[in-house]
Amino acid sequence: MKTGVYPGSFDPITYGHLDIIKRASSLVDTLLVAVGTNPSKNALFDVDERIALIRQCVGDLHNVVVDRFQGLLVRYAKEKNANTVFKGLRAVSDFEIEFQTALVNRELEPQVETVFLMTDYKYAFLSSSLVKEVADLGGDIQKMVPPCVEKELQEKLKQARMMPK
Ligand code: ADP
Repeated sequence: MKTGVYPGSFDPITYGHLDIIKRASSLVDTLLVAVGTNPSKNALFDVDERIALIRQCVGDLHNVVVDRFQGLLVRYAKEKNANTVFKGLRAVSDFEIEFQTALVNRELEPQVETVFLMTDYKYAFLSSSLVKEVADLGGDIQKMVPPCVEKELQEKLKQARMMPK
């Protein structure tokens, strides 16, 4: 049985992430979508909310399991008997950091291989932070995230605007 891990912050999940999830899940028996719980990253959605949104989006993919992880990714992969880590590549700017991370991870855990999946050209510009920014400025994010994510994001931004500064 082959298990793969697709790690990220998914704050929130976008169509770009979903495209990678669909393609990665066709290459392994089980794909673990692992939501990082790094508290130093200032996330808009908490981990449980991010997990719930991912679950709603991947409901029809039967070999996808949504989980959380903290600390070293390769340690998590090893614990889960996963020998493949999937990463999405959008642009040259992604490559540099991902190249470095993949080499460090190989140094730490040679049995875990990093596999890069090239983004679909439709999503090459797409990131969670861009979606949040566009939504906050009142732009249309329909082509960037599934409807359930759009709804939760609008709600979250409304709450954030009501918070005293
Ligand atoms: P981001 O905030 O950059 O969207 P995440 O940490 O949630 O980042 O990303 C998790 C993984 O998904 C990373 O490997 C990232 O390169 C990949 N990814 C994010 N957006 C896209 C996209 N539009 N197309 C392909 N891969 C993507």
